[in-house]
Amino acid sequence: MPTESTFLLAGLFLLLAAAGWALGRFGERDDEEGAPPPLNIDYLKGLNFLLNEQTDQALEHFMKMVRVDDKTVETHFALGNLFRRRGEIDRAIRIHQNIIARPDLSNEIRDQAFSSLAKDYLKAGLLDRAESMFLRLAEGTRYQVEALEQLCRIYEQECEWQQAIDTSQKLEVLSGKSLALQIAHYYCELAEQAAADNDLAAARGFVKKAQSGRPRTLRGALTRAKIARATEDSKTALRLYHRIIDENSYLIAEALPLLVEIYKSEDSTGKLEKSMRSLLNKNPEMSKDIAYAAIVNDIGDIPAIDECVEDYMLNEPTLAGFIDLQLLGEEDDGRRRNAMLKIRVGLSKLAASTPRYQCRECGFSSRKLLWQCPSCKDWETQRPYASVQFESVLQRSGINT
Ligand SMILES: [Zn+2]
Repeated sequence: MPTESTFLLAGLFLLLAAAGWALGRFGERDDEEGAPPPLNIDYLKGLNFLLNEQTDQALEHFMKMVRVDDKTVETHFALGNLFRRRGEIDRAIRIHQNIIARPDLSNEIRDQAFSSLAKDYLKAGLLDRAESMFLRLAEGTRYQVEALEQLCRIYEQECEWQQAIDTSQKLEVLSGKSLALQIAHYYCELAEQAAADNDLAAARGFVKKAQSGRPRTLRGALTRAKIARATEDSKTALRLYHRIIDENSYLIAEALPLLVEIYKSEDSTGKLEKSMRSLLNKNPEMSKDIAYAAIVNDIGDIPAIDECVEDYMLNEPTLAGFIDLQLLGEEDDGRRRNAMLKIRVGLSKLAASTPRYQCRECGFSSRKLLWQCPSCKDWETQRPYASVQFESVLQRSGINT
């Protein structure tokens, strides 16, 4: 089937034909004086390749016919960028390399061609080549801001976090925009790397740097708590998890199960019960967030938390369709708790297979919290769904709501 690129090339050949007839010759390759040849052999060959859907050969002939100069360079760029967008990277690279190969190009056009070629390499996954081109463009060209942004994306992919920090700091100076949040995440990545290598002192140092910027990321507290747990410093870990929950942050669904795990391992769930009660007394509106975190993480056997879950389920309109919540509400405490426990365990299992987080910028959703959105590449833009997506959970499980 002819592709969009084939049509574009065909259009360009037709334009060339029209221009050729008007000017009496094709392209500007031949500078000889005298009567133009009646037909241009490259044009005919190119057209023939197009008719046979041999796009590569047609492209070669197009590039032979149309010399890159001030008048035609934008056509070359448009064609190259179209090939890249369509995922035909080899062709995009050939066109952009063809532009760069011209000896008489202005610096501005050469930089534009380097920028396009660097993007081709990036899309082709040739990160080293893209990196060296963007590094060149980052040195005082009009593409320097874009080049530094792309270098950050490359260092993120390569997990070269220190280089990502240095590049972001240069970018802050040039663009005048704060990248504090992004830089804080890079430091958290370095902290996690150091913790994985068992260099806990370095890990703590990186967390400190992550928490020194503004806006502050709560990821620093989670990472620090993880390091504390690795060193069996449960006092620090508990303090940090409590802080995350007390601040009613969106990270409650991440922190609550870890908090419960520590209290259970220390056989001191009574202390957790007490602190949850005092938290709920101060902030009764947190009951729903606690219930959500408990359902998606299958947390039970803490009465204060169980009550939040029960309240939540009794007030959830989607569940009313297939559970007689009113009747359940009239049961005695023991029987109701038992029934509720069974429902919670069932829902936890179903909720585990549905997305829990969604990016505020682009809508990308995932089951696990992702600090950087894989789709729009923004940092810390994911938020949990406001409640369990019972409707989609039930639809996925084949229960009609
Ligand atoms: Zn996104």
